[in-house]
Amino acid sequence: MNILIVYAHPESRSLNGALKDFAVKHLEDAGHRVRVSDLYAMKWKAVLDADDSLDGQAGARFDPSLDSRRAFERGRQSRDIALEQGKLRWADAVILQFPLWWFSMPAILKGWVERVYAYGFAYGVGEHSDARWGDRYGEGTLAGKRAMLMVTTGGWESHYSPRGINGPMDDILFPIQHGILYYPGFDVLPPFLVYRTSRTDEARFSTLCDALGQRLDDLWRTAPIAFRPQNAGDYDIPGLTLRPDIAPDRSGFGAHLRPPVAGESAPDGDRAREK
Ligand SMILES: Cc1cc2nc3c(=O)[nH]c(=O)nc-3n(C[C@H](O)[C@H](O)[C@H](O)COP(=O)(O)OP(=O)(O)OC[C@H]3O[C@@H](n4cnc5c(N)ncnc54)[C@H](O)[C@@H]3O)c2cc1C
Repeated sequence: MNILIVYAHPESRSLNGALKDFAVKHLEDAGHRVRVSDLYAMKWKAVLDADDSLDGQAGARFDPSLDSRRAFERGRQSRDIALEQGKLRWADAVILQFPLWWFSMPAILKGWVERVYAYGFAYGVGEHSDARWGDRYGEGTLAGKRAMLMVTTGGWESHYSPRGINGPMDDILFPIQHGILYYPGFDVLPPFLVYRTSRTDEARFSTLCDALGQRLDDLWRTAPIAFRPQNAGDYDIPGLTLRPDIAPDRSGFGAHLRPPVAGESAPDGDRAREK
């Protein structure tokens, strides 16, 4: 299988760097082909602007969406964007790896998403009608591929528990897992999470690698998070709210998850536990 790791940490000798090196070796030893987009090492341009189109004209009004569509359709995107889109097409599975910074991804990775997810590539795809609202949320350019987050945090697991001060990790990651990964079609696996990173020593690192290795071995077996597909009947179109008879007592992020069907085991919440 082809696996793309999009890695966002400025220091190769960090915990993230060591986990990334372990993941690459583990996957390659298992016979997979691995490519890494090491965003800091690539000096990835994080800001979306008029320079992202080769046809940008000095003084012309810049429209972030329409200029993106035009450049994508005409093959006139900046080369770094087109290369990353090629890697996404190549990959069977994509791992986004980052330290949690201010409750989200580092800016360089957000900028990768903003620029690589062009209009016509990751959004604005498919038919918009009374029956369908584009190919998105379970359908789209990246459908059939798997994606997983690998995230480290300074905070403790309890700080991110359902009643923890930081808010539940499921909720914090919802905009990334649902909004960035499920939107263009990925099947999203439960994330691999490392909490309380300051407590890492050799023994813990070894335990983390065992847990990560298991998750990588299970990449094609793990049940994806059961987000509800947009065009399969759960949502009214074009309002795109859940139909009144679907999960009538629920609202918020959790309402967009299908309950487990009898006999089907639910994915293990949101975390890869260390053994
Ligand atoms: C701008 C910013 C915002 C942040 N926002 C948040 C936030 O919103 N929420 C939150 O919870 N945290 C936050 N943090 C903390 C951040 O998430 C952690 O610092 C980060 O996840 C740690 O990952 P690292 O790779 O940088 O670890 P490192 O600092 O490199 O390492 C962590 C520990 O692991 C050890 N280690 C490293 N490599 C190895 C190895 N190979 N073997 C054994 N031990 C090793 C190190 O000695 C160190 O003790 C923030 C930090 C910054 C800088």
